Amino acid sequence: MSISLDTIVNLSKRRGFVFPSSEIYGGLRSAYDYGPLGTELLRNVKNEWWRSLVQLRPDVVGMDSAIIQSRRVWVASGHEQVFTDPLVECRNCHQRFRQDKLEDPDQCPSCGLRGQFTEPRQFNLMFRTFMGPVEAEENLVYLRPETAQGIFINYENVRRTCRLKLPFGIAQIGKSFRNEITPGQFVFRTREFEQMEMEFFCRPEESSRWFEYWVDHRRQWYLDLGMTEEHLRIRPHSEDELSHYSAATVDVEYLFPWGWDELEGIANRTDFDLRQHAEHSGVDLRYFDEQTGERFFPHVIEPAAGATRTTFAFLIDAYTEEEVNGETRVVLRLHHRLAPYKLAVLPLSKKPELVEPAAKLADALRHHWMLEFDVTQSIGRRYRRQDEIGTPYCVTFDFDSLEDHAVTVRDRDTMLQDRVSMDRLVDYLRDKLEV
Ligand code: ATP
Repeated sequence: MSISLDTIVNLSKRRGFVFPSSEIYGGLRSAYDYGPLGTELLRNVKNEWWRSLVQLRPDVVGMDSAIIQSRRVWVASGHEQVFTDPLVECRNCHQRFRQDKLEDPDQCPSCGLRGQFTEPRQFNLMFRTFMGPVEAEENLVYLRPETAQGIFINYENVRRTCRLKLPFGIAQIGKSFRNEITPGQFVFRTREFEQMEMEFFCRPEESSRWFEYWVDHRRQWYLDLGMTEEHLRIRPHSEDELSHYSAATVDVEYLFPWGWDELEGIANRTDFDLRQHAEHSGVDLRYFDEQTGERFFPHVIEPAAGATRTTFAFLIDAYTEEEVNGETRVVLRLHHRLAPYKLAVLPLSKKPELVEPAAKLADALRHHWMLEFDVTQSIGRRYRRQDEIGTPYCVTFDFDSLEDHAVTVRDRDTMLQDRVSMDRLVDYLRDKLEV
């Protein structure tokens, strides 16, 4: 089913997934704020990535580096010199654009005039600020534009303290900042965003094999979390697209409402970063192989995904509309592990004789799963709200529950209902939810 970007933006705002940042002051196109549901969804996406890349693996560890690092990091990595996009300005309407993303390189998408663009100038995407009270060149620092360099500069700290042997990975999730020339498509491209990156260090001769391995592994992660296979593809970079450090790169792409676009880049970064940091810092970052007595720079395979962008893709992919009894039912068919609430507990009526025991049941279930307790409106409307926010199961407490100590459990996807005794409820839900 193809859906429009507006549909997702509206749902996000209406239900509390994502709000425009600084909205009461007219908004700031650079960033977005995540509401209660969006925060849960984003957190679940990050947790699933962390579980798959760190917790379930004997060969990967996690870390969390600072956002503001020494300026020398970005000199060594090449970002200060080459982390740029080509910027053009329309002489007629003075709008600015990223030249390589223009559909027609000669026509202004804003005013429509042709032949009005200035010569492209290389615009550095790093946000600049100053450390301490003096705004002088020697106090210049950057907000990190990627999390990867925080890993490279700690490579030796982590390797030594965790006694790691090749091959091994170091993973990090965190905020990154890029002063994008044209942010847009909702949270797809923002100036402040979150990344999930892993640097996998291996012997140079094994890097091609590990590259293939991580491409397959990452593709499978999206599929295991329910992403539609036909909406996902792997696109190898052509020779002229490759970054300055890369021997091979593929993009994992998703079919967004506007077409195929990048979710994640997986690159063979060779030994570029470790070599650069060794040279610029003077610290020997070569790996010592105790068996052969060799010293060498490991090569690196990097899966680099956007957490906020991936969350957005899961939201789009889950959105469905269907006809039920002549009405449109909106359902977010999110994988259970990603759904913001796993359950909703709904007393059938507002009468205290139902609300009180239902609230007690909700309190008990809260220890197991994130849930919502909702008393307002008719039961039909409450089901529709839960469908729209992707809650897999609704647990309804009705008048019969007072007698038979059972509740009705409604499945989001099939809308089928089961009567389940309350003393079996946790086991019943665990079977359903922990797949
Ligand atoms: P693009 O070509 O779209 O500007 P990139 O190829 O420079 O992106 P990478 O440096 O490979 O992106 O970053 C890894 C991932 O981080 C991207 O695949 C994307 O998911 C995410 N990402 C990068 N820039 C942004 C942004 N401005 N907003 C949201 N996510 C981003």
